Amino acid sequence: MSQTIPYKIYLSEEEMPKQWYNVRADMKNKPAPLLNPKTLKPATAAELEQVFCAELVKQELNTSDPYIDIPQEILDFYKMYRPSPLVRAYCLEKKLGTPAKIYYKFEGQNTSGSHKLNSAIAQAYYAKKQGLKGVTTETGAGQWGTAMAMACAYLDLDCVVYQVRCSYEQKPQRREVIRTYGGKAIPSPSMETEVGRQMNKEFPGCTGSLGCAISEAVETAVKTPGYRYVLGSVLNQVLLHQTIIGLEAKAALDKYGIKPDMIIGCAGGGSNLGGFISPFMGQKLRGEADYQFIAVEPASCPSLTRGVFAYDYCDTGKVCPLQKMYTLGSQFMPSPSHAGGLRYHGMSSILSQFYHDGLMQARAVEQTSVFEAAELFCRTEGTLPAPESSHAIRVAIDEALKCKETGEEKTILFGLTGTGYFDMMSYQKFNDKTMSDYVPTDEDIKKATDLIPRFPGNEF
Ligand SMILES: *Cc1c(COP(=O)(O)O)cnc(C)c1O
Repeated sequence: MSQTIPYKIYLSEEEMPKQWYNVRADMKNKPAPLLNPKTLKPATAAELEQVFCAELVKQELNTSDPYIDIPQEILDFYKMYRPSPLVRAYCLEKKLGTPAKIYYKFEGQNTSGSHKLNSAIAQAYYAKKQGLKGVTTETGAGQWGTAMAMACAYLDLDCVVYQVRCSYEQKPQRREVIRTYGGKAIPSPSMETEVGRQMNKEFPGCTGSLGCAISEAVETAVKTPGYRYVLGSVLNQVLLHQTIIGLEAKAALDKYGIKPDMIIGCAGGGSNLGGFISPFMGQKLRGEADYQFIAVEPASCPSLTRGVFAYDYCDTGKVCPLQKMYTLGSQFMPSPSHAGGLRYHGMSSILSQFYHDGLMQARAVEQTSVFEAAELFCRTEGTLPAPESSHAIRVAIDEALKCKETGEEKTILFGLTGTGYFDMMSYQKFNDKTMSDYVPTDEDIKKATDLIPRFPGNEF
């Protein structure tokens, strides 16, 4: 292979970003503030500090500082597994026969297997600095719980993880990684919280949901002295920490004078995509450059493409602040046949605002086509991708095939958020051809969006 651009572009330690980028500073239309669920007034720092670490509350509410220093201790931890490689997908390009140039930023090369560690270490650091004893959190697919357990082990903090029951049972490997790093994994709904007991009573045998696990984790954090709650996506602070992905990618591309035409990422709660596109979006907002941004979501949980833009609850138990976002309603449950992750009902309010303002596009894709893309990708590029990440692969391939038709030599950049090692049950369904595609009907969606709270100022 003769090539001027190397297969992998790395950054040296000196070239690593030392600050996170806060894209809200450059947004004309700022995301709407969080609301207190009881008063429906903007949540104050004092209220939020009962749930979250003080420094993280500051970051959550900071809409004006474009750059925030990454503390040295976090930079040191990042050095253990970063920079993550930026890969030119030469093999995939060749296989597709496309004139497009494809790049991906791979976040799966750490034990937790995804980008989530970037924010886990930051949140654990601020908890430790505040003198806390431990943190509580939820995990769905398991990556976030694993990442949080790793970060807490490093900083000697307790880590209590409410793991959605079906994942706790179906993904014993994830659970054991959490335990090996010293975390405590509790299947949710549990009998340890009011929310959990209520769920178990109302729906015996209930296999849980992310929204319910969040409520349980928040309840435990608020009731236990020396504990706070940490969340793996959706919040502004998480997106801020994840900008390390975009900043590294941009620095690596800049080294070779490469400018992507389109940037694609999968969107669950929106943290990886938000962090990935932020530095590029900043340029677009400041009028310095233009890019096409595409958020990819599952057709079975289509918050951006079919949800409504409104204030909604972030959790089933309605204990978290209300957030303005594209949402399917906090009571929305994706079909049990959905195996590909990204099953959160809402979306980061920053990404929601981008989408609402026409700065970012969104596409919904069906899971069988996602796994077909994953199969092609692992057979050509070698890396077994997480199902979530494979949503981005699907659209990157579709766009590269369009280039093949038109002859355009577009540069496509996508985020490969994690590895699929812990998702072999989903791959098994695909390999056995027992995987089905489920797209909710308009009625299904209306049933859930009808339950979004209505109050003055929340018309949708
Ligand atoms: C959690 C996760 C996602 C989705 O979360 P976002 O907050 O939308 O980034 C995507 N890919 C992987 C591998 C994940 O673990």
